Amino acid sequence: MTTCPKCPDADLQHTLIAGNLTAHSCTRCTGLLISLVAYRRWREIHHRSAADGEAVDVNCEIPDTRNAITCSRCRTVMIKYRISAQSDRRIDYCASCEDIWLDGGEWELIESLVGSRHLAGIVTRPWQRRIRLETVDALRSDRLASFFGKDFEKIRDLKEWLDEHSAREEILAYLQRREDKK
Ligand SMILES: [Zn+2]
Ligand SMILES: [Zn+2]
Repeated sequence: MTTCPKCPDADLQHTLIAGNLTAHSCTRCTGLLISLVAYRRWREIHHRSAADGEAVDVNCEIPDTRNAITCSRCRTVMIKYRISAQSDRRIDYCASCEDIWLDGGEWELIESLVGSRHLAGIVTRPWQRRIRLETVDALRSDRLASFFGKDFEKIRDLKEWLDEHSAREEILAYLQRREDKK
């Protein structure tokens, strides 16, 4: 029996979540340990069409050691992976055991943010790269919004329309031309 990575003296108990996915839960902190092996089998039955580029290459990730927890099976530091650009919550993953640790409530959070069928996708490089890009985009958007104020939405719509337009260059040139006021 494995112990909880968060509560050193609490044992994990076998449980079934989301219908029939085998997991181990901690009765003290309500966290969940999910084996990707069991998860993939569960997903095959529940979400036949789900395809996540599962090219895990954790050696290239920089470990986030804030509040790092160690895998209770192999004792290595678990790597933290952000769930989505909309949340700062991170899940913990041990690549050698293929175990994912979820704090209490994180399964439900994943379900509501991205769908539980993407759990295995979260711990991949393409997923993490996309989150970084989305975060940069959101920051840029925030900065522009505070600069342009109430006009921002109008400007963004105009830009979208312009970017699709076949005469984009001509329109831009026209807009830049200063007409002499009579
Ligand atoms: Zn615990
Ligand atoms: Zn491990």
